[in-house]
Amino acid sequence: MKRKKVLVPLPRSYFVKVKCPSCGNEQIIFSHASRTVRCRVCDEVLAEPTGGKAKIKATVLEIYGKME
Ligand SMILES: [Zn+2]
Repeated sequence: MKRKKVLVPLPRSYFVKVKCPSCGNEQIIFSHASRTVRCRVCDEVLAEPTGGKAKIKATVLEIYGKME
């Protein structure tokens, strides 16, 4: 029986353009942010780290460079 090789996948990272739900400011954040990302204008939390892909709490407008 063949064993499946377990490879450590590279994180599928990309950038996301989000709109702050609080003030409407648009900014680009990293999909795998390791620290809490806050709005540059009003300090609203836009994304929270989860250890992998960040949990995005803002409205996603566009995604850049996503690798399928
Ligand atoms: Zn804001």
